[in-house]
Amino acid sequence: MSSGPVWINGALHAPEDARVSVFDHGILVGDGVFETIKAVRGRSFALTRHLDRLATSAAGLGLPEPDLDAIRQGTLDVLDAAPRWDLARIRITYTSGEGPLGSDRGTTGATAIVAVAEQQPFPATGDVSVVPWPRNERGALSGLKTTSYGDNAKALAYAHEHGGAEAIFGNLAGNLCEGTGSNVFLVRGGRLITPPLSSGCLAGITRALVLEWVGGEETDVPLAEFTEADEAFLTSTTRDVQPIRAVDGTVLPTAPGPVTRKAIEAFAERGAADLDP
Ligand code: PMP
Repeated sequence: MSSGPVWINGALHAPEDARVSVFDHGILVGDGVFETIKAVRGRSFALTRHLDRLATSAAGLGLPEPDLDAIRQGTLDVLDAAPRWDLARIRITYTSGEGPLGSDRGTTGATAIVAVAEQQPFPATGDVSVVPWPRNERGALSGLKTTSYGDNAKALAYAHEHGGAEAIFGNLAGNLCEGTGSNVFLVRGGRLITPPLSSGCLAGITRALVLEWVGGEETDVPLAEFTEADEAFLTSTTRDVQPIRAVDGTVLPTAPGPVTRKAIEAFAERGAADLDP
């Protein structure tokens, strides 16, 4: 997968020359936050929403306030210097910066990084595996997009071992929560439902757009009822709307079903029209 130039604290670097310190507390203890943003032929999608969420995650983690104007400019500079790929993934990483070993967090000032790489479209449908350990919806980092994604990486590996392309978490209350990099929707009796933010899921930007454009209810769903869905789909920046074909080997009645198709069409129309200038 080809990568474009990388912006670090105001300067552009070739991807092979992009380096940060081994003493960066983003690396040492995951003391950072991030965003993944889509770009279509060199234009970002929903950049302002993503920058706002970066700031919310940073505030929630207690990091210094990010300079969003600088990071926005860095994103535009990176896109400007990168090939006009049909689809690309922009990654913003923002950490507490360098600090001596053993310090609570970075002490020399924050590190801001913007990287970009070509992205292949996701398959038309995906199977999911429910992981046997819960998301902690009562944890201090619940709902924040921090760089502490080890639990997600382990869950995704679990899914791959069990025939899933994405892993799904339940929460401590036994309700459906989210995927490792996606939110989840299901349809029952014609009702479009997604877990509320209190389930511990990330406030997904694609999730919010589906609720705005297609409608739907935010309702807790007992995890055991997931396989009883008429239709279900995943949402994320890089996949938009991806129908779920099967949950733990139980094939759902339709993928995509009629409601899922509406969501896919909304993204095909609005998602393409609403690219950032
Ligand atoms: N949940 C998690 C844990 C994620 O990492 C992502 C991807 N950012 C999502 C949900 C989907 O969010 P979005 O639609 O903003 O990409």
